[in-house]
Amino acid sequence: MPTVKRILVTGGAGFLGSHLCDRLVQQGHDVICLDNFFTSQKSNVTHLLARPNFELIRHDVTHPLWLEVDEIYNLACPAAPGHYQYNPIKTMKTSVLGAINVLGMAKRCRAKVLQASTSEVYGDPDVHPQPESYKGSVNPIGPRACYDEGKRAAETLFFDYRRSNKVNIRVVRIFNTYGPRMHPFDGRVVSNFIRQALAGQDITMFGDGAQTRSFCYVDDLIEAIIRMMNGPDDFPGPVNIGNPEEFTIMQLARQVIELTGSKSKVVNRPPLVDDPKQRQPDIALAKRVLDWSPTVPLRDGLTKTIAYFRSISLDAFRAPTPNF
Ligand code: NAD
Ligand code: UDP
Repeated sequence: MPTVKRILVTGGAGFLGSHLCDRLVQQGHDVICLDNFFTSQKSNVTHLLARPNFELIRHDVTHPLWLEVDEIYNLACPAAPGHYQYNPIKTMKTSVLGAINVLGMAKRCRAKVLQASTSEVYGDPDVHPQPESYKGSVNPIGPRACYDEGKRAAETLFFDYRRSNKVNIRVVRIFNTYGPRMHPFDGRVVSNFIRQALAGQDITMFGDGAQTRSFCYVDDLIEAIIRMMNGPDDFPGPVNIGNPEEFTIMQLARQVIELTGSKSKVVNRPPLVDDPKQRQPDIALAKRVLDWSPTVPLRDGLTKTIAYFRSISLDAFRAPTPNF
């Protein structure tokens, strides 16, 4: 494999994708960022447009792709619940047809291909923390199923292309990740709480706030997925990537209020249907095989994210869906 690689990042203008493009461009690779801008906007990557080793393509992964590359990171998919539930059939198509299209392309040009899967494949888990061997507890007909089952089907396709066609695959299961460039209107908990706290608005707590999540700072996540792509070919995953420090959503709200110095009050709203009650990655496998562990504590990551949210003008962002 040459030192300078041609790398495609689908969903490359999104929150995670734009940070991944930054790192790959910085490493000197030829980077193609492909996006349909459903849940993002060009401003996440405009700083890269003048770089000779960066190219931006507007395209939808549900339609075939024809490019010549050495590696593909497949991140294209709405990730926030309000975004993926807005047009659930399109979400399922994006996961399944998107996987078929990148896998077909990887097969043709013998590229390595990495799938951004998710902790949602574990559903509302009854095993805690969740190891990769846990098969999950997903409601196949609920409002989250378009995303959960779409991502599960994509994992199936990745492993079938490996078994049947010897495609060189990687699958990472990403747990809640946050940081600068999250869309301010994505409705995810970190972006919502920070936006609400900075505006002095009520903090919307779905349910009693006892549900838990484990939050990984974006820089840690990007480091892990690049290590996974460059890891051994006989380790396709799936591998959990996340920060195992677990917090209740109420603890998160209190921390955001403290760090922003906000006078916002927490208000309880009805719990969401099928909202997972607990989520914490078991990252023993990533530690062992990738020699990776997260390094950024929640407090430090939130401080950087709050600084980002203070620096942007909300008028520059279009809400991708009404659900935030
Ligand atoms: P994001 O919404 O910011 O990024 C997704 C990007 O994909 C956006 O730029 C969007 O416009 C693009 N996209 C959506 N549908 C597309 C299509 N049909 N064709 C082309 N582009 C399309 O979300 P993110 O947090 O950056 O997530 C990136 C990936 O990581 C997703 O696949 C998501 O499922 C996965 N993931 C993220 C998290 C997290 O906590 N951030 C957790 C688990 C998994
Ligand atoms: N949540 C909340 N208020 C909000 C947004 C989210 O209480 O304004 C809760 C949500 O019910 C869930 C958790 O925060 O329990 C994480 O939600 P998010 O949408 O960020 O991601 P998820 O992990 O559910 O995909």
